[in-house]
Amino acid sequence: MKNRVLVTGGAGFIGSHLCERLLKEGNEVICLDNYFTGAKDNVVHLMTNPYFELIRQDVTHPYFVEVDQIYNLACPASPVHYQYNSIKTIKTSVMGVINMLGLAKRINARILQASTSEVYGDPLVHPQTEDYWGNVNPIGIRSCYDEGKRCAESLFVNYHEQNNVDIKIIRIFNTYGPRMNPNDGRVVSNFIVQALKGEDITIFGDGKQTRSFQYVDDLVEGMIRMMNADNFTGPVNIGNPNEFTMLELAQNIIELTNSKSKIIHLPLPEDDPLQRQPDISLAKEKLNNWEPKIQLTEGLKHTISYFDNLLKTSSNQ
Ligand code: NAD
Ligand code: UDP
Repeated sequence: MKNRVLVTGGAGFIGSHLCERLLKEGNEVICLDNYFTGAKDNVVHLMTNPYFELIRQDVTHPYFVEVDQIYNLACPASPVHYQYNSIKTIKTSVMGVINMLGLAKRINARILQASTSEVYGDPLVHPQTEDYWGNVNPIGIRSCYDEGKRCAESLFVNYHEQNNVDIKIIRIFNTYGPRMNPNDGRVVSNFIVQALKGEDITIFGDGKQTRSFQYVDDLVEGMIRMMNADNFTGPVNIGNPNEFTMLELAQNIIELTNSKSKIIHLPLPEDDPLQRQPDISLAKEKLNNWEPKIQLTEGLKHTISYFDNLLKTSSNQ
């Protein structure tokens, strides 16, 4: 056995891929989740593995276990879900992080925080480098998530400085792939589901806003390299620098699904960032030349096939 690893939010989209990869590499994995946006279905295929344990638990309550490493992913990630109960989102990012940092301190574990490109807000620097402090509205509708994650970064750094906790911070840029929650309103899952069902594709605003989409396998590789890198706490950007407008994304998905869906425009949500693209020079330098390997069309094909199966299975039930 290599390491005993705790993954909070392990039954979510990214967490389930991380658990799978950690088990494949011979680690013992404890997956903790309250199933707010995650589901047992995401990890059901891992349950026959005797080195996998699934725990129903909320990170805002203290939890004690002896592990070597902690990946802290617990937090709803899509605007629809993190705005559903904004106070709970802040509690998850602040109290949850204090609980996990306290645990790491007590048991001497290394701990990695899944931070986000949202700490840059609606960025005035493009592409975003780690030394940019961001442009965040502290009282806007995204603030429960953005400021929660910024406070979590601060807690990580302060536990490191004050208590010598072995920390790692990664800033994840928009990530997609199989097991995204079909109802969480994120753009890739929305467009794919709409295209497969032949429904209108809902572009918010004029569709000229940009995002840079990373396939989940590339992220998991970056996360594991960061966890195992010595003498480097981060924060480090983990994302794919290829940038697309939402119009380009919609057209790409329509072509790949051969869909007859039409594009319609709906109002742009408040404080929606205009552009986002990671500068990944630091990740390349510190994480053994890490860079994304799976580009958008290939990643979309895998994701479309996942949602296609999901829709067929649910319509047969
Ligand atoms: P997700 O919603 O699929 O996963 C989050 C998981 O955390 C879910 O399984 C949910 O049930 C669980 N959770 C939420 N609150 C919890 C709590 N209080 N206690 C225990 N479990 C709780 O989202 P994801 O895309 O897999 O995101 C995982 C992490 O990565 C999050 O921290 C998110 O902020 C971060 N992140 C994701 C992206 C992205 O594009 N997907 C981008 C930046 C950062
Ligand atoms: N978006 C869209 N249609 C949708 C869902 C989202 O045009 O059905 C837009 C949204 O306004 C944003 C971009 O797509 O500009 C990415 O949204 P998402 O919620 O996936 O990620 P985030 O805004 O958190 O980066």
